[in-house]
Amino acid sequence: MGEIKGGTVYDPYHGRNATWRPVGPVVDEYAHYTANSRDGYVCLGVVGDRRHWNLKNAGDHTSRSTHSTIVNGKTVSPKAGWVYAIDGRVPDPARFERWFAKQLRAGKYPHVKYWNILHRHYNRKRGWSTAVYSSDDHLHISFIPGSEHSDSSILADYERYRTGQPATPKPPATKPAQLVVDGRLGTRTITRWQQIMGTPVDGRITEPSALVKAVQRHLNAQIRAGLVVDGEGIRQDGRTYKTVRALQRYLDTEQDGIMSEPVSAVVRAVQRRLNSGKF
Ligand SMILES: [Zn+2]
Repeated sequence: MGEIKGGTVYDPYHGRNATWRPVGPVVDEYAHYTANSRDGYVCLGVVGDRRHWNLKNAGDHTSRSTHSTIVNGKTVSPKAGWVYAIDGRVPDPARFERWFAKQLRAGKYPHVKYWNILHRHYNRKRGWSTAVYSSDDHLHISFIPGSEHSDSSILADYERYRTGQPATPKPPATKPAQLVVDGRLGTRTITRWQQIMGTPVDGRITEPSALVKAVQRHLNAQIRAGLVVDGEGIRQDGRTYKTVRALQRYLDTEQDGIMSEPVSAVVRAVQRRLNSGKF
């Protein structure tokens, strides 16, 4: 991924060298252009050539832009030393134009000052209406004074929209690893049990516990266990619980109401059941 840091450029109008550095949004969008160049993104430039500089009132491709705008009712001017604009080509520019105009009209990207594409000019001051001709066929984006240290994700967002990918890629669905049938009611077993019962997943049985309530409801429905749904009574501590006894009946193991330590036959039965993908 490319990174752009600024530098020095000859200013023919003043007959001297000028230093420049890109504002934060230019850095971010430049990185996207250069990282995705094979997909149709091409950066055409940030700091302008001699033609851009050889003017008294130079624009946003120089570090002495005079192009002011209005932010929150106040006229603001670009700060000397910064370059606020970036040019490039994007895949399917007509689609980009429709998408970007819609985003801006909805209030997104408050760091954008104006932009041009396909010979049309859109300006924040005009509420993003398209009244003005632009000589730019490519995408030009100018950012507002005050955005010097802002982040920007315009091209990254467009790419996700264009390719139909969700903002956060989902991990591929994989078959969960099988539990070890060791008779111990540990974190992995509780986690899988919670996943299968559809309760919050934290790998722990609290008192009361949403998992235990779900198990009690299930046992009441499946074997008419007649349990109070209080979320208590599944503990591997060698003591007697009604819920454990019902669990033993459901899973056809010895019915003493005890989940013995450190290993338990009924926990082994639970693990085998969970490994079948259900409870
Ligand atoms: Zn430009």
